Amino acid sequence: MAYINENYINLNSNYLFSTISKKIKEFREKNPNSKVINLGIGDVTKPINKYSIIAMNKAVKELSSEKTFKGYGPEQGYEFLKSKIIEYDYAKKNIDILLDEVFISDGTKSDISGILDIFSKKNKIAIPNPTYPVYFDSNILKGNGGKYLKETRSYENIYYLNCNENNNFIPDIPEQKIDIIYICNPNNPTGVTFTKEHLEAFVSYALKNNSIILYDNAYEAFIQEKNIPHSIYEIKDAKKVAIEFRSYSKTAGFTGIRCSYFIVPKQLKIYFKGKPTLLNDLCKRRQSTYFNGASYISQKAAASIYSNKAQNIIQSNISYYMKNAKILNKFLKSKNIKTYGAINSPYIWMKIPSEIDDWEFFDILLNKYSIVGTPGIGFGSNGKGYFRFTAFGKKQDYIKAISLLSDYFD
Ligand SMILES: *Cc1c(COP(=O)(O)O)cnc(C)c1O
Repeated sequence: MAYINENYINLNSNYLFSTISKKIKEFREKNPNSKVINLGIGDVTKPINKYSIIAMNKAVKELSSEKTFKGYGPEQGYEFLKSKIIEYDYAKKNIDILLDEVFISDGTKSDISGILDIFSKKNKIAIPNPTYPVYFDSNILKGNGGKYLKETRSYENIYYLNCNENNNFIPDIPEQKIDIIYICNPNNPTGVTFTKEHLEAFVSYALKNNSIILYDNAYEAFIQEKNIPHSIYEIKDAKKVAIEFRSYSKTAGFTGIRCSYFIVPKQLKIYFKGKPTLLNDLCKRRQSTYFNGASYISQKAAASIYSNKAQNIIQSNISYYMKNAKILNKFLKSKNIKTYGAINSPYIWMKIPSEIDDWEFFDILLNKYSIVGTPGIGFGSNGKGYFRFTAFGKKQDYIKAISLLSDYFD
């Protein structure tokens, strides 16, 4: 008989997106002539820039000839991509990264959950609330949660970094000793960003406590304002405490291509019986055991995004999304609705303006206006009373949505 990993039984299913899909389906059946305006899309909609398409075509062609064929590549990724990352994403910001500090992979979702394999189940883990659900779920599935405490409906090893109106959704540093800290900056779902000072406080906490920061930087390319760090390594000594994760998914529309990377600096140490070990060595060990490398084609595509020509298209796609965010945010603000985000990220996090609950608000938007967004409660208990819109849709949908909603908020 085979036994199941019981954590799969214990973790509540995330009903959020399936509930949303079900509600949309029911609405469509009842209103076959009404077009749903989806402002909840968590995926990019703009096609991939033509220079990456050319690069992928070329890579495919190479695979078709015996002379240029590529089989397994290096588990940590090809040097042609790693050197571009070092040059454009780091050296330009005066950050030195070594070739073997870069790990190329197929997505931040798998990277940030897979890395947990290296860590003990004894760690105390700080997760933002509200959060990108992967951080919490992957820890529970791996058995890192510890005992489930029924009274408080929480896990003994999980510490919530509470984000709410009082701290403008930027968490305070933990009040107890934490071993692993998740930071998502710019944030999904709230769209807010840490300033340099906020990030310095977390790095300084981590240095003091020998904690490790898992820094999810998937939305770096959306940063518009000057004082927002583009990398955690802009903070002094952050290399001693932080792993930075980046993805081509949102940056370059690669959600379907799959390519990402993470940086594990050689200064980053982890302790076994008080003795320091290089985390980088353990990551290499893990990567080469579980992974045979991201595809040659997707790595060639990723390397192609750094040219000026490709960057022009990529930046114009990002501007398009950010204009959507601006249109919606400006409208909500004009109706005196409290919003967060929308400036350095493709997310608009709004406070629901009356005493109705998240799902009631969802139902009103859908049934009265054919508009879809995401109830904040789906991202954690502190999301209650909030609603997330994304900027990944079409401009005309945002314009239509604000004209429809104009009377509702009056
Ligand atoms: C979209 C997203 C990612 C990217 O995941 P990939 O697996 O690289 O597509 C990572 N983190 C957050 C918070 C995201 O929203």
